[in-house]
Amino acid sequence: MNELLFENNNEIRKSENGVSLESASTRSIHAELRTQSDTKLGSFNASVDYVDDSNPFGSSTAERVRKIMEDSRKKTIVVFLEMLSEISWKDFEVFLSETEKLSVPHVKNMMKYAMRWGCGEMYCSDEIVNYPKSRKKQSVMNCISKLCQYFDYTYSTEFQAEWIKFLHQKRQTWAVASVNVTPKTKFNIYKNWSKKQFLDNCSKLGQTKKSNLKFSTWVKFVYTTGLRPDEAMRAFNEHDEICDGKVMELFWHRRNKHAHAVYCHPELHKVLKKHKFHISQNSGSHYKIVNSRTVGCEVRFLRKVNFTKNCDLSVELANFMQGTASSLRERVYFLGDMHKLYEKWVALDWL
Ligand SMILES: [Zn+2]
Repeated sequence: MNELLFENNNEIRKSENGVSLESASTRSIHAELRTQSDTKLGSFNASVDYVDDSNPFGSSTAERVRKIMEDSRKKTIVVFLEMLSEISWKDFEVFLSETEKLSVPHVKNMMKYAMRWGCGEMYCSDEIVNYPKSRKKQSVMNCISKLCQYFDYTYSTEFQAEWIKFLHQKRQTWAVASVNVTPKTKFNIYKNWSKKQFLDNCSKLGQTKKSNLKFSTWVKFVYTTGLRPDEAMRAFNEHDEICDGKVMELFWHRRNKHAHAVYCHPELHKVLKKHKFHISQNSGSHYKIVNSRTVGCEVRFLRKVNFTKNCDLSVELANFMQGTASSLRERVYFLGDMHKLYEKWVALDWL
């Protein structure tokens, strides 16, 4: 029995030696955090060595199990980092936009985090645990997830499962809302939101008259349709093809995000028909003109205002227009309802 334990222990030692910690932690974008995590890993190894030396026939069962688990994770990290060093960024980009169907700005963002900042190297590391809680941390975690999904999809690995397990064990959550925007402040924004102020801000957008018309129409379009900004952008650019003058039938599905059908406000419809505006998503230059400072609230917040207003008409219909009703029966039913209720909707006093 003792011999068996001894053998097991040797095996553990071997596998521990087989995995070089240096290769697991290579280049870093946060040298300071790296130093911290290295120190932690160092002290962890020291404590394990101490236990082994004092008792050659193994420490407690719990300790051994923990070590085996740690070793298996270290191996996964090494393989992940190896694959990361040989990744084809072009294929990764195609995966994000075509397989994952992420929006153009989202793909750009993920590529920046993965390629330029090398966030993948924080896979299952102490660095990510120590990273200050912020929106940026969420993006870094997102980026690592996308890399995992790409490898899992392409090479049938199981990096994502290990990553989720790691985050769960370390009590890492994706939520950042508690840091910057508490529900209380969210409610305050809503309480203080005024249509008059919003329209006033819209009238000041852009430098020229033409640019003002284009961007104020765009912001009002987000507000009246209640679509997510990227969906609203697409609907705005493709307006002439999808709008019948009253209702825009979209039925777009992107992962768990749906857009069914929304109303087109008669005033905006006229402007869009006449000017055939187009906003380029790639350049992102519209953010300089349309942002929370110039509009008075975050553009995506307008979706919530829209929902609250639509609820005056019908809560079920408001849910449908936000893309949350899912069954086919509901879709057909609500689409008919939308045409019937158009006049009532316009009368809700939007602009
Ligand atoms: Zn229209």
